Amino acid sequence: NSFDDCSLTEIIANNIKLARYTRPTPVQKYAIPIILAKRDLMACAQTGSGKTAAFLVPILNHIYENGPPKNLPEPQKFSSRIKQYPLALVLSPTRELACQIYDESLKFAYRSRVKPCVVYGGADPVQQMNDLDRGCHLLVATPGRLVDMMERGKISLELVKYLVLDEADRMLDMGFEPQIRRIVLEDNMTPTGSRLTMMFSATFPKKVQELARNFLDNYIFLAV
Ligand code: AMP
Repeated sequence: NSFDDCSLTEIIANNIKLARYTRPTPVQKYAIPIILAKRDLMACAQTGSGKTAAFLVPILNHIYENGPPKNLPEPQKFSSRIKQYPLALVLSPTRELACQIYDESLKFAYRSRVKPCVVYGGADPVQQMNDLDRGCHLLVATPGRLVDMMERGKISLELVKYLVLDEADRMLDMGFEPQIRRIVLEDNMTPTGSRLTMMFSATFPKKVQELARNFLDNYIFLAV
């Protein structure tokens, strides 16, 4: 019933306090230990449930533990031709949600040297590429713009160890299935088994169940 029960690294525990999160919400209480234990997860949770921190906190904790900040891949600085290799990728249906997740990731990544970035459609790609040039360990993206950045050679998914599909039902409703399948199944994304995959969805219709079967490995199902 407390974030202290999760044995988080000091910097993350501290950033949770700075964000003034005192008690975990139900989805955080159940999902954080599952993700820390490196199990794939299919979680049914609504917007407003606190699902963003439920995946960001354990992912950032894994990144610190597995690659202490000094061992993180050096962000590729100031060269528009160099690709970024994010360690964590969060797919989101809309620009608004992507920006909320990005804002939340800035709070939890504070003082950690982990560099979050966000890319989404309907905005200047050149600006976003300039941003990516400053380095990117955790990428929040809408599917269409991510495919565009991959085609431009700006992003490679080879090093992704943590993959989140947020609001999976909404992404499917918006017609992103081809882009999502391309991102997860083609273009040298780390295979299941060497990555941790988490899906969040408000509803659990057939189409989402099918994605979970295709993308997740021996997963835990959580409904809150
Ligand atoms: P989400 O469902 O992730 O969009 O979160 C909904 C809102 O609740 C956001 O504004 C979060 O910053 C806030 N929030 C999430 N978890 C907590 C918590 N444990 N304590 C206080 N606020 C929280």
